[in-house]
Amino acid sequence: MSSPQSKLQIAIVGGGIAGVALALDLCRHAHLNIQLFEAAPAFGEVGAGVSFGANAVRAIEGLGIGQPYQLIADRTPQPWQDIWFEWRRGVDAAYLGASIAPGVGQSSVHRADFLDALAQQLPAGIACFDKRALRVEETAERVRVRFTDGTEHECDLLIAADGIKSSIRDYVLQGLGHPAVAPRFSGTCAYRGMIDSETLRAAYRAADIDEHLINVPQMYLGLDGHILTFPVKKGRLINVVAFVSDRSPQDPKWPQDKPWVKNTTQAEMLDAFSSWGDAVRVLLECIPAPTLWALHELEELPGYVHGRVGLIGDAAHAMLPHQGAGAGQGLEDAWLLARLLADPQVDAGNVKRVLEVYDQVRRPRACRVQRTSWEAGELYEYRDRQVGDDQSLLSTTLANRFDWLWNHDMEIDLASARAQLGWQ
Ligand SMILES: Cc1cc2nc3c(=O)[nH]c(=O)nc-3n(C[C@H](O)[C@H](O)[C@H](O)COP(=O)(O)OP(=O)(O)OC[C@H]3O[C@@H](n4cnc5c(N)ncnc54)[C@H](O)[C@@H]3O)c2cc1C
Repeated sequence: MSSPQSKLQIAIVGGGIAGVALALDLCRHAHLNIQLFEAAPAFGEVGAGVSFGANAVRAIEGLGIGQPYQLIADRTPQPWQDIWFEWRRGVDAAYLGASIAPGVGQSSVHRADFLDALAQQLPAGIACFDKRALRVEETAERVRVRFTDGTEHECDLLIAADGIKSSIRDYVLQGLGHPAVAPRFSGTCAYRGMIDSETLRAAYRAADIDEHLINVPQMYLGLDGHILTFPVKKGRLINVVAFVSDRSPQDPKWPQDKPWVKNTTQAEMLDAFSSWGDAVRVLLECIPAPTLWALHELEELPGYVHGRVGLIGDAAHAMLPHQGAGAGQGLEDAWLLARLLADPQVDAGNVKRVLEVYDQVRRPRACRVQRTSWEAGELYEYRDRQVGDDQSLLSTTLANRFDWLWNHDMEIDLASARAQLGWQ
């Protein structure tokens, strides 16, 4: 049995979905000593829905958190169980087609519930709160993270899972000889809200709108806007995200002093979709107090690791939410890294090489998901150059567009990583 001193010491900075999922897997292995540092006084997530594709659901299962996930997850109800989204025109809710994800459909949770379920599984003593990482220093053998409260922590390996505004990303980029990368505003803002599904049902009945639009996840498309709905909390609530894009500036800027999320008015939201049809209007009328999110993303990074420090999740590849894939990519990072670090062949001597291989295997896929997430927004908002608002092209393109993302085989990634490490 390894003594605490001989154990590989791994620190994770950031307790969002990616960081907690990684910590949960790693702390099951006797040769590893895990500490997780979170800036907030407790784990917390915004009260909104998050959906997972088949690849993310497989990562969740592989990370050993399938059971708590399935207990709280929603799925598209029968007989539409394989539908991810139905696609409709925003102006009149006319049906354009559907994307089918066999065996998974739309799998979603309320993100606060998910993080709660994960945090409950974490053994005592792993998570430290009120610890905001400020900077990192490395020697040949060790890495030290300093916190804003003046304390520090030393370890063999540091994983930054501290989100899109990561305080550690620039250390990695600098080490790679690359300038710092700041999140960039996408030009798209999203109105978000949750509706009691019975309230929406009553409103649709009163307006003579088909209740099918509540039962099955929907995506309404239009010029420079799109709206998605899917159920969460076992169907008791409907999660709504209504996107509007301003494509006029070449390089849109969000003022530095303005928060990325704020409360807004229903009137402003209704005004943004005033030319859309009744199904959309009645839906938005059921959200009395929406929030407005300025959507930011990262450019594709030239590397996720430097020395004994690695980036996972949004710290590495924050993307637009148009494929519902951002958190899923963080879970794939966590899954691969956990499989590699859990191997008893890992020690303080080869851990840098393990990180390099993680980067080589994960980065091309995560970058492709980032890129195609942006492209998906162009497609949904009739700005794809080939497709535009051509209904039959939209329908055929959307039918299979996500298959490569969902059907990805992570076991092949793991086999390739092990081969690169020369492991049997
Ligand atoms: C509108 C919208 C809809 C979305 N929908 C989906 C979806 O349907 N499906 C999907 O897969 N993804 C979706 N995403 C993306 C998804 O939310 C993110 O990819 C995911 O939450 C990122 O998780 P993370 O753990 O990497 O980072 P975060 O969730 O940002 O967690 C980072 C954690 O680090 C902590 N932290 C920050 N700085 C420090 C520091 N210096 N020191 C210590 N701790 C620190 C924070 O407090 C936080 O707890 C959506 C995003 C948006 C904006």
